[in-house]
Amino acid sequence: MVSIKNSRELSSMREACRISARALQLAGEAVQPGVTTGEIDRLIRKYIESEGATPSFLGYGGFPGSACISVNDEVIHGIPGKRVIHAGDIVSVDVGAHFNGYHGDNAATFGAGDISPEAQALMDATRESLQEGIRAAKAGNRIGDIGAAVQRYVEVRGYSVVRQFVGHGVGTNLHEDPSVPNFGTPGRGPRLLPGMTIAIEPMINQGTCDVRTLKDGWTVVTKDGKLSAHFEHTVAITADGPVILTLA
Ligand code: MG
Repeated sequence: MVSIKNSRELSSMREACRISARALQLAGEAVQPGVTTGEIDRLIRKYIESEGATPSFLGYGGFPGSACISVNDEVIHGIPGKRVIHAGDIVSVDVGAHFNGYHGDNAATFGAGDISPEAQALMDATRESLQEGIRAAKAGNRIGDIGAAVQRYVEVRGYSVVRQFVGHGVGTNLHEDPSVPNFGTPGRGPRLLPGMTIAIEPMINQGTCDVRTLKDGWTVVTKDGKLSAHFEHTVAITADGPVILTLA
């Protein structure tokens, strides 16, 4: 079921989203050669808890970290731990905060030190495809318009859209209806209505769209070992257009 929030509910949710966005910003500043993914995770948890919020992902389905931290060919759901980040790595951080009964959810990919032009181009295209998707998230449009906008933007640049994982509604639950694929057909799927809040989160691969899950049961990697990037915002559909809630 798709939940519709009134303006009071949206302003509560905005607080959770702001905490999520600040946590992501801090994580981005911490992505440096020599740091471990576990150290970044601890910093995120400390910040979220200092705001009186809880990390949405901690314990979710048994996930052991406060954030998903995925390096290079890791697409999503990387488990923070002893892995040391090296110069040239690209590091995707996905983090949510639960506050006042609502979740905020956002992600971004950060470069550590100097990264290759190819890695930078992938990150730039993925970040921009998210903006394209958000621009399509207008009341009256349909879910397929969002995915089509993301897909069009990245595929002409030679990248591929991960199919097996998609964005989602977000609110009192971390994952709600509707599913928000990053591919699709314009004019298809559920209609976007004012008061809906959705997480749009393109996962874009340098090579093919195929992914697999590692034996740890969580980490999703590209099958061809090429790079992947991930950007996400929580967005409210309003009569006046899409509003990004996860701004720091
Ligand atoms: Mg999400």
